[in-house]
Amino acid sequence: MVVMELNLDHRLLLLLGSPFVGSFLGVLIERLPAGRPVVLGRSACSQCGHALSARDLVPLASWLVNRGRCRYCSGKIPWTCPAIEIAALLIAVWSLAVLPGWLAWAGCGLGWILLVLGSIDQKWYLLPNVLTGPLAAGGLLVAWLVQPSMLIHHVAGAAIGFFALTALQWSYRRLRGREGLGAGDARLLGAIGAWVGWQGLPTILIYAGISGLLWSVIEARGSERVTLHTRLAFGPHLCIAAWLAWLYGPLQIV
Ligand SMILES: [Zn+2]
Repeated sequence: MVVMELNLDHRLLLLLGSPFVGSFLGVLIERLPAGRPVVLGRSACSQCGHALSARDLVPLASWLVNRGRCRYCSGKIPWTCPAIEIAALLIAVWSLAVLPGWLAWAGCGLGWILLVLGSIDQKWYLLPNVLTGPLAAGGLLVAWLVQPSMLIHHVAGAAIGFFALTALQWSYRRLRGREGLGAGDARLLGAIGAWVGWQGLPTILIYAGISGLLWSVIEARGSERVTLHTRLAFGPHLCIAAWLAWLYGPLQIV
């Protein structure tokens, strides 16, 4: 009974806390690519610079109450702010629905970092090392906690993921004389390999390929012309692939 109550408590804590985590993730997405401090800097309106008080910082509720506008300058607050908070909450719900016990927390950690990486890459074509590094370390730590004997497969996954994309990048540059993939993509696939192990890497490439293709089709239907030279951020698709492959395991192709 005590165990059940504990179980409920930790789930509730995760659900209630996740929109607040989402707020912080929004700050990371906005400030990391610009090289601005993420922890020390006080929250302020990005348009008028007015310091925000506690009542301006309640996830979702503040945005709804103020109808998506700053209370001081009436400037529009981008819809991405509440969207990231909702996404952080959905990641917690999804994680709790699929994973037992502490693994749900690990799943949230993975999902939240992937959310930040994917969002930054989509907007800036950038995958900061300050995120991919800890992501790789976290993957190895979780693998070791789940089954220490499997750790070696995850170390191999990190190495193969990184070197395979680095080699591909190098060959592309030699053949075509221009960059095909960003350097961050190799580091991201390495970090993902730490989570899914080398056995999961083919699944990651298949999922990411499908996701990237679907995205290109959607973009082509819009106003943008998509050609072979159109720049596509591959990071968001690797992130989606990593999330699905870690939660549900690699594809079983017999
Ligand atoms: Zn303002």
